[in-house]
Amino acid sequence: MKYVSTRGGMAPQSFSDILLEGLAPDGGLAVPEVLPRLSAETLAGWRGLPYADLAFEVLSLFADDIPADDLRRLTRAAYTEQIFGSEDIVPLRPLGGGLSLLGLSEGPTLAFKDMAMQFLGQVFEYVLTKRGTTLNILGATSGDTGSAAEYALRGKKGVAVFMLSPHGRMSAFQRAQMYSLQDPNIHNIAVHGVFDDCQDIVKALAGDLKFKAECRIGAVNSINWARIAAQVVYYIHGWLKATTRADQQVSFAVPSGNFGNILAGHIARRMGLPVRHLVLATNENNVLEEFFRTGVYRPRPAVQTYATSSPSMDISRASNFERFVYDLVGGDAARVAALWKELAGTGQFDLSSLRPAFASQYGFVAGASSHADRLATIRSTYDESGVLIDPHTADGVKVAQAYVEPGVPMLVLETALPAKFSDTIEEALGRRVPPPAALADLESLPQRVQILDCDAEAVKAYVRTHAAL
Ligand SMILES: *Cc1c(COP(=O)(O)O)cnc(C)c1O
Repeated sequence: MKYVSTRGGMAPQSFSDILLEGLAPDGGLAVPEVLPRLSAETLAGWRGLPYADLAFEVLSLFADDIPADDLRRLTRAAYTEQIFGSEDIVPLRPLGGGLSLLGLSEGPTLAFKDMAMQFLGQVFEYVLTKRGTTLNILGATSGDTGSAAEYALRGKKGVAVFMLSPHGRMSAFQRAQMYSLQDPNIHNIAVHGVFDDCQDIVKALAGDLKFKAECRIGAVNSINWARIAAQVVYYIHGWLKATTRADQQVSFAVPSGNFGNILAGHIARRMGLPVRHLVLATNENNVLEEFFRTGVYRPRPAVQTYATSSPSMDISRASNFERFVYDLVGGDAARVAALWKELAGTGQFDLSSLRPAFASQYGFVAGASSHADRLATIRSTYDESGVLIDPHTADGVKVAQAYVEPGVPMLVLETALPAKFSDTIEEALGRRVPPPAALADLESLPQRVQILDCDAEAVKAYVRTHAAL
């Protein structure tokens, strides 16, 4: 399998080649030249496979430049009972009313990003070792993404992580989660500033080409194709668990921000997985919901992005959306390049002429949810099924309810555990949620963090002296 750019300006490359890169050289995103197809026989043959072996089967379609024995070793190391807490890895639980919960948040940081990151950690170490090179991952986090990356890359050979976070602005649990890591290749840097300051420093350093080359700076952001590929696995796993026959359709409801999670569902559907609807759920930051309603894509600046009680969805510029638009315009890379040029010029583009195809051809429907909806949904889900859901998952459940159809299982993707967002749970139910037993002592563990001024030069100096070389 070869990968090309959504904007047409990249010679075809292998999976391992695009693994360590960010954007394509033309500013586009890497996509498979041709998608593999899943036949009914193939899907039937995968029934009953352990999750790690299903992951091997699916990922071998995308990473065919990695020898099968090696890839199988990587997926078996990534998806273990020890890391994900049960043999199932991704459990499926009924919620009542035709809904089920696909449990993607059983990993070390209690959010779905672990699903892709655990594989990414394995495959990064493998490819770096094979190529005899090293990489220093630089990132900024306000909580979730940074911790998933650190837990995936801790102790890995040839790679170090430098994660900037705003000093004093994360929850005690989030701080403990990141700062208690004692692995020498993990560097937490608390910056005197806010999250945007951290991000500005990362941008400044990544834009300094001399420094970037000298210290071999890389990223593990949401546009990484290996993350999308690893997420395709749990859509297939969910379908296998919810069905018994090859022609049975299911729908998936996905709490969305960056369009990363639901893009994997779209890929699975295009590969031939019998998916009826992909239900895209947003919070008050409804840029994507607006697109699927009107056909107009109109991202908003940071000042118009609300801080909500589902904070990991407070995103108004969906970086993975370009891959979907590429499919929507029939793989016409010149058209994608023109649309993004228009976006840069006018702040929006209009694909309303294609609107009839969104649901009929691609299965996409959408809805938005509010703070009051989240509280009511957390409460009613708990009352009716005894299952406690987090505010992001509540956005998914709320929107999913409008699209339930008889005979079509609706699988809501659980994107985080409620213990991570105990304040909102308390507001909904009047009580807090303790963290899982294994993490009960987390906040009392010794913490290791470097506090630095909000100064790109200071961060640069720190990275230089601690980089993996
Ligand atoms: C990242 C995240 C999301 C949004 O996922 P996207 O792939 O960016 O759309 C939703 N919920 C939680 C808890 C997250 O961490």
